[in-house]
Amino acid sequence: MAQKLETADGEASSAGGRPISDAEVRSAFRTVLQWIGEDPDRDGLRETPDRLVRSYREYFCGYEEDPAQVLRKTFSEVDGYDEMIVLRGVTFESHCEHHIAPIIGRVWVGYIPNRRVVGISKLARVVEIFAKRLQIQERLTAQIANTIDEVLKPAGVAVVVKAAHHCMISRGVHKRGSDLVTSRMLGVFRDQAVTRSEFLSLVNADTMEK
Ligand SMILES: [Zn+2]
Repeated sequence: MAQKLETADGEASSAGGRPISDAEVRSAFRTVLQWIGEDPDRDGLRETPDRLVRSYREYFCGYEEDPAQVLRKTFSEVDGYDEMIVLRGVTFESHCEHHIAPIIGRVWVGYIPNRRVVGISKLARVVEIFAKRLQIQERLTAQIANTIDEVLKPAGVAVVVKAAHHCMISRGVHKRGSDLVTSRMLGVFRDQAVTRSEFLSLVNADTMEK
């Protein structure tokens, strides 16, 4: 199935220099409205730049949080549990860094613990934090897997992401109904075909996918 990922260039960093005010961003959105041929002062649009500021704050709230910290705070020592733990089909919404168009998809996360087990909701938080940044799907996939690997130090981590890219649907090639599948397998998921295929059968059996 998926392409293998070799790189994950770490955390997003905030831009240097002076902070940018909401007013400046509102003004930029107002300029875009004028540029497409609209009148930003008509009734329906008057509040739009401000709504966009609030929307962007929500779309990109992942820059302010550290996913490693989410996992670090909550791990517990659980002696003896060494079976596969799988979070299936967690939904996410992200934005592609090339077009700022939505990427809508699901993530399957599996790991085999090595003493440290984390609450399943924390895995979903990690997905959420990385998704709420400008992304490409390959990096999103790798970042989720690498962070779990680095913090929990499990016997293995497997991540599969399936997503539709709106930059392919509403513009460009205008293709609907296709999705992109990416995966990253670490540790025993990479080394042991049996473990990998056990995980992938759980991914493919997931009826919540549609
Ligand atoms: Zn794009």
